Amino acid sequence: MKYQAVRGARDLFGEDIKMFDRLEHLSQKILLSYAYEEIRTPIFEKVEVFNRSLGKGTDIVSKEMYAFKDRGNRELALRPEGTAPIVRAVIEKNLIKKDKVNRFFYKGAMFRYDRPQAGRYRQFYQVGAEIFGVHDPWLDMEIIEVAVKILQVVALEKFKLYINSLGCLECREKYIKVLCDYLISRSKELCPVCQNRINVNVLRVFDCKNKDCIKLLSEAPKILDYICQNCTKDFTLLKDYLDERGIEYIVDRALVRGLDYYTGSVFEIKTDMLGAQDALAAGGRYDSLVKELGGNDIPAVGFALGEDRIIEVLKKNNVSYKYQPKITLIAVEKNAKNEILQNMKYIDKLREKGYIVNYDISNRSVKSQMRMAHDKKSDFVVFLEGNDRFSLKNMETGKQEQIHGIELLKTLGAGI
Ligand code: AMP
Repeated sequence: MKYQAVRGARDLFGEDIKMFDRLEHLSQKILLSYAYEEIRTPIFEKVEVFNRSLGKGTDIVSKEMYAFKDRGNRELALRPEGTAPIVRAVIEKNLIKKDKVNRFFYKGAMFRYDRPQAGRYRQFYQVGAEIFGVHDPWLDMEIIEVAVKILQVVALEKFKLYINSLGCLECREKYIKVLCDYLISRSKELCPVCQNRINVNVLRVFDCKNKDCIKLLSEAPKILDYICQNCTKDFTLLKDYLDERGIEYIVDRALVRGLDYYTGSVFEIKTDMLGAQDALAAGGRYDSLVKELGGNDIPAVGFALGEDRIIEVLKKNNVSYKYQPKITLIAVEKNAKNEILQNMKYIDKLREKGYIVNYDISNRSVKSQMRMAHDKKSDFVVFLEGNDRFSLKNMETGKQEQIHGIELLKTLGAGI
């Protein structure tokens, strides 16, 4: 009996794992350069952490959570997103300095029981960042800037940034009433799912893909027309800051996020290269969540970007990362181990310099070792010819030269 990975969960290897590695490495470099500090939380939490923060009416909590009881009868869930655990952790460990800008980032696997399809997995990976402590649209801009910067640095070119404001809790309450009145007055034109959403999580009607609902919602009142003066001022400032930083955006008046905790600005970065699952990153302000989870009244803003989808777009654009050159050693005589031992001082040095050094110890023919060099996509082949003599072949140009002793390291830029 051969086993298969669980539906929606992937094994990552070969070129894919290099892409993930590179994306995480570059994201981390950027986040550190903006003074974010890494935080790593467990992949499971008490289920209540998510129920409380995401909202019971949300799709994630009501349908998509991997919730289970452990052997001690604790109600737990695999994290479906990163923000709620981080908020739990910063409150519990007292990590927020009051009235200061506190920046954190995370990376790791998330789990949602949704129908798997291209770009949608049940285990997927996110890099995310959160800022706690200060309510200032400048920080909303910074969060967006960092997300955009990461996409640019990994060489993702075509994407669009959409922004909107969901207002503060008071604006939202007023708006939801107006929206509900409108939808109830025309509820017969809505699909059954949206009819139900009126009572459960009404803002989600804007995510409906049904044509009739889309048409009806295009005429519906929009939250931007109902937000208070302060929220309007914040949103204007955010747009000004984005303009000043040269970050292009589109105001999408129908953009709502699927989670309850957002207040104020929200954003999404989308691509047109992935079909239906087009969101690459998303985030926004959530000023009441820290308090909701038992902390002080501390404002916050954050984003999460979806690594799996970013990598899919990069692959479609034929972006591949080559960051460590590869060398295959080929023992010409049939005494591979001996030759390798003789040359270990060079091999160690090459590895130290970042080369990937590979060899075969089973005394196969030169032809078969060359095949391995091709399979491994080696950049160089070094023939070990005995007595400190080598032939160095550049696999890209095909050029081959004879080299003696330490010259090998110098030629490969790994001189002592
Ligand atoms: P969300 O927390 O839903 O806003 O997700 C943030 C980002 O994570 C999205 O923009 C996607 O790029 C990615 N993402 C969310 N759900 C999935 C999934 N099931 N599979 C792959 N990527 C996902």
